[in-house]
Amino acid sequence: MAVPKKKTSHQKQHQRRAHWKAEAQEIGTCANCAAPKRSHTACGGCGYYRGRPARLKDAVI
Ligand SMILES: [Zn+2]
Repeated sequence: MAVPKKKTSHQKQHQRRAHWKAEAQEIGTCANCAAPKRSHTACGGCGYYRGRPARLKDAVI
C-alpha cells in the first residue's frame, strides 16, 4: 500500500476542502397543485407524484 511521505499540513487540507461544499436542492413545481416541491419526491401539499397519489392517506379508491 502506498504510504504518504509527509503529513498533510492544515493549510493543504483546507485548500483541498475549500471546493467541497453543499449544493442547493433542485426545486420543481407540482403538476397537480403547482406548489413548489423537491424533484423526484411526492408533493408535500397534495401528495401526488407523477400525476398519481403517492401517499396512502391521500389515496381515494
Ligand atoms: Zn401537489
